[in-house]
Amino acid sequence: MPRLANSTSLLQRLRPKRIGRRLALGFGALVVLMLVALWYATAPIAVALKATEQFATGDMQRLLRVQALSLQTEGVGSALVRLLNAPRANRVAEYADVDERNRRIDGIIESLANDLHDPQQEETLRRLQESRAIYADAFLATVDQVEAGDLKAASNALNAQVNPALKTMLTESNTLLQRERERIERQLDDAQIRFHRIGNLAALSSLIAIIAAAILAWRTTKSVVTPLARLESAARTIAQGDYQTKVLATGTQEVDRVGAALNTMAEAVSLREREIVRLAYEDALTGLPNRTALLNPPRPANDVPAANTLVLIDLARLKAVNETLGYSTGDSLIKELAGRVANVFQTAAHDGLIGAAPVVARLSGGTLVGHFNAVNRAAVEVLYDRLDAATVQAVQCGGHSVDLGFTCGFADSGDGTSVTAVNTLLRNAEVAMHTAKRSATAHAWHSEVQEAARLSHLNLVSDLRQAVAASQLQMWLQPKFSLVTGKAVGAEALVRWQHPTRGFVSPAEFVPFAEQTGYITLVTDWMLREALRTLQAWEPKQPQLSIAVNVSTRDLQDAGFAQRVHELLVSHKVSPERLRLEITESGLMDDPQRSVALLQVLRGIGVGLSIDDFGTGYSSLAYLQKLPVSELKIDRSFVENVDALAGTQKLVHAMIEMGHGMDLVVTAEGIETQAERDVLARLGCDVMQGYFGSRPLHGEALQAWFEALQ
Ligand code: C2E
Ligand code: MG
Ligand code: MG
Repeated sequence: MPRLANSTSLLQRLRPKRIGRRLALGFGALVVLMLVALWYATAPIAVALKATEQFATGDMQRLLRVQALSLQTEGVGSALVRLLNAPRANRVAEYADVDERNRRIDGIIESLANDLHDPQQEETLRRLQESRAIYADAFLATVDQVEAGDLKAASNALNAQVNPALKTMLTESNTLLQRERERIERQLDDAQIRFHRIGNLAALSSLIAIIAAAILAWRTTKSVVTPLARLESAARTIAQGDYQTKVLATGTQEVDRVGAALNTMAEAVSLREREIVRLAYEDALTGLPNRTALLNPPRPANDVPAANTLVLIDLARLKAVNETLGYSTGDSLIKELAGRVANVFQTAAHDGLIGAAPVVARLSGGTLVGHFNAVNRAAVEVLYDRLDAATVQAVQCGGHSVDLGFTCGFADSGDGTSVTAVNTLLRNAEVAMHTAKRSATAHAWHSEVQEAARLSHLNLVSDLRQAVAASQLQMWLQPKFSLVTGKAVGAEALVRWQHPTRGFVSPAEFVPFAEQTGYITLVTDWMLREALRTLQAWEPKQPQLSIAVNVSTRDLQDAGFAQRVHELLVSHKVSPERLRLEITESGLMDDPQRSVALLQVLRGIGVGLSIDDFGTGYSSLAYLQKLPVSELKIDRSFVENVDALAGTQKLVHAMIEMGHGMDLVVTAEGIETQAERDVLARLGCDVMQGYFGSRPLHGEALQAWFEALQ
């Protein structure tokens, strides 16, 4: 076996590396094989032809000569008898005939002497020559007696000497003839056998040539087809998405070149496929997994316990940063937050505070998600503290120092053991996030209470219609003060609801839902009447004070709203500039074109317009420039702790500058401390509103404040 294997490998080593050479060699060998077969078939035929020629020219002629010898010998006897009996006058012709015959006999004997090539025949010929000599003597003696006229003696001599000699000659020549005939017959037999053999040889060599050609063709075909088949199967493997299995060398140059090209192609396709997957599942800005990766992970890890907790982290003030410091600064801020958050999660997982392999993803804008496993909420609170600590330091980008504020919404599966689907956790965390934002806290957990509250709001809204009619609503006023003179410039009207069974309901709880259902227009109308009634009452003593009423998106969608405002102003005899309307940025963005048109009409009436909660919405500066507003109210989230946050100060300063650039009065909302007030004043803010100045007031407290103004 090893020897066989050795010889096979030797064969393979000797085999040409190129298909072209292999085919040339195969077909070349085939041609040589055919030539050999042809030679094997034709060479014996040539030999046989030569033998036949020799037979025809040599042997047959010799036979004819021997036959002629017998005939001449017979003929000379008759000629002698005719000579004896012929009259003297005719003897000359008879002599000539006998002489001629004798000459012929001698000629044949002489030609045969060098041409017999057979000792037995040569012996017979020698005896014939001897009897020819006896005949010659006897013939001369007989002729002498004829010439002497003794015909009797001549006849005796003929019978006693000449005829016996002739007879012996005839016997010997017949012996020669017989033997030549036998020889010819033998040769004919030999020739027949030889032709048979030639036929067989030709058939055999043709058969061998056919078998050898078939083997050669099979080997050549196999040597081409096998590597091609390997290529084909390799291509199929690649098509099935297996880019790791390489196309192996087949020892055939052309096929190996295609194989190498296939390998290169598989590598390139695999690279591109990985890139496509990366683009599909990775956030381009931060390099974190994106929403798709979070909701439909490409490869769910089997060895990691499923995550039961989710935190939604929303970068604060991103919009304002984008607007005032540019989008690249906003991007840097997101990247920085992503980096720090990812780092906190990794360290927490490493420390065992949370489960292994937490997923940190970017959902959109400045919203990040942490999806992880936590033993209890206490651990998550520790994680939150770490996140908080990691974002204390301001980010330096584009020459600015920007603070990293954020709000968190947490959701978990409740009992700590079961696993909730990630999209449910995400929705719950969003609810928690909104709760945190509404209650102006930095983070909140999603709870059953929130869920119940969400559902109960739906009932609440249906009670609202009744609330308007049954005077359950109250208008509270929060004073606004000039930061230049310190004097009151007006107040903002804030709705309060005293529900008969639920007690006090915060506007943050019912306003968003009232907006969704459209009942908010009832509230707006009620608040407008109350505000105008109050302005009417203030008129004699404080005609310079204004009241701002919050207007919702729904009001802006109502084509008759401006007309209603106008009629109310007229019926209450209040000059339009004492009424302000506050519109939130997001409210404007719902239907920008229609909103702008309506604002133009309101401005035409003479009512002052304010952009509320500025910095939290998504309006662009270019768009704000088109609005006929006269006041910009910077959202409370920018004011909180502004004295301690250098980055936020810069941001607020930029906002104030921008507002002034557009000829707007800039008001800061939610000032709670002296320090915040001082910073805002230093930054050039015009008006302040907040608990530091005054809480929203109602009833007697409001009356007392008003009296104190005198
Ligand atoms: P807003 O228009 O930005 O009103 C200011 C909110 O900030 C008020 O909350 C006010 O009580 C609160 N605030 C003022 N100063 C401070 C402060 O120094 N610290 C803190 N923490 N908060 C301060 P409120 O009354 O709960 O109203 C919340 C929101 O509900 C309002 O935000 C407004 O968007 C909406 N809203 C209130 N009343 C009405 C209304 O009559 N109609 C409509 N459509 N929305 C209203
Ligand atoms: Mg407001
Ligand atoms: Mg506001």
